Amino acid sequence: MDVLKPTNLIEVVADSVQYRKSVSKFATGIAIITCEDDDGKVHGMTINSFTSISLDPPTVLISLKPGKAHRLITKSGRFGASILSEAQQDHSSHFSGRPQESLVPDFAIRHSVPTLRQCLAWFECDISERVQVHDHTLFLARVRHCDGIDGSPLMFFGSQYHRPVIASQ
Ligand code: FAD
Repeated sequence: MDVLKPTNLIEVVADSVQYRKSVSKFATGIAIITCEDDDGKVHGMTINSFTSISLDPPTVLISLKPGKAHRLITKSGRFGASILSEAQQDHSSHFSGRPQESLVPDFAIRHSVPTLRQCLAWFECDISERVQVHDHTLFLARVRHCDGIDGSPLMFFGSQYHRPVIASQ
């Protein structure tokens, strides 16, 4: 079998500013990742890298840069994920390091990991694999428990928050 080999071994990499601008055109939802800190209190972090990987067994992926949530989740081997509704932009800002004075986060442990009491959907996950990819770590995790309700999501697109507009038929 013929194997295609690059004739020029100089690696071409997209400009990072251009990459950020381009990849921001992929619309996502927003999740708050939760875990317990060293004092048994809940720690939360905003992410938009939550992805469903496999249905059988139910498996999700999150991609985290080094930080507090990364350290705590690595230590405990599990995390919760709460998908935000369109009314929860304050949660996204708060758990990404912009404290919202009026916000009092309300968590519940439904089975074994804390998640937001109010959200569009929640997942309790056990980490099955960790993969280091450059400046982020991919955490693959089995979903042990989950549930969701009807409602509209908070979305992230073009580096800004959006609420879905339902197109008329
Ligand atoms: P910290 O910054 O220390 O913690 C997060 C913040 O939450 C702090 O302000 C902390 O005080 C507060 N907080 C935590 N728990 C509680 C609690 N129980 N009660 C009250 N306040 C609390 N980064 C990634 O690595 N991957 C992603 O996919 C990703 N997606 C993002 C998507 C969006 C839309 C945004 C806005 C940010 C995203 N980030 C992502 C960046 C990330 O959210 C921030 O860098 C975050 O601050 C990192 O959290 P940390 O756990 O490392 O530590």
